[in-house]
Amino acid sequence: MTYVVTDNCIKCKYMDCIEVCPVDCFYEGENMLVIHPDECIDCGVCEPECPADAIKPDTEPGLEKWLELNTEYASKWPNITAKKDPPGDAKEFDGVEDKLEKYFSAEPGTGD
Ligand code: SF4
Ligand code: SF4
Repeated sequence: MTYVVTDNCIKCKYMDCIEVCPVDCFYEGENMLVIHPDECIDCGVCEPECPADAIKPDTEPGLEKWLELNTEYASKWPNITAKKDPPGDAKEFDGVEDKLEKYFSAEPGTGD
């Protein structure tokens, strides 16, 4: 198994998760992060740290598309190990539905 980043991270990207990950397996897109499934050691410490409740174990039902998305973009986006400022409008987007369809960006972030 692995943990995966899901819909509500998009345009929220608070980045609290990065600070606690013992193996630095977060990767940065323009407006969300993903977890590298082969690097994640399933410790679970990031899940309760996410203010947007966006991190889930992939053992939860219905997360197949998120496992695919995390896997694909972890190999395309740069590694990020230090927290930066979240987007100024992060709170406005917290809880908005269907962010993948509406707002997902495949562009990479800047990483560390
Ligand atoms: S803490 Fe949550 S919202 Fe913030 S970057 Fe990590 S997964 Fe995304
Ligand atoms: S479960 Fe642990 S190893 Fe996996 S991303 Fe979260 S903090 Fe990192």
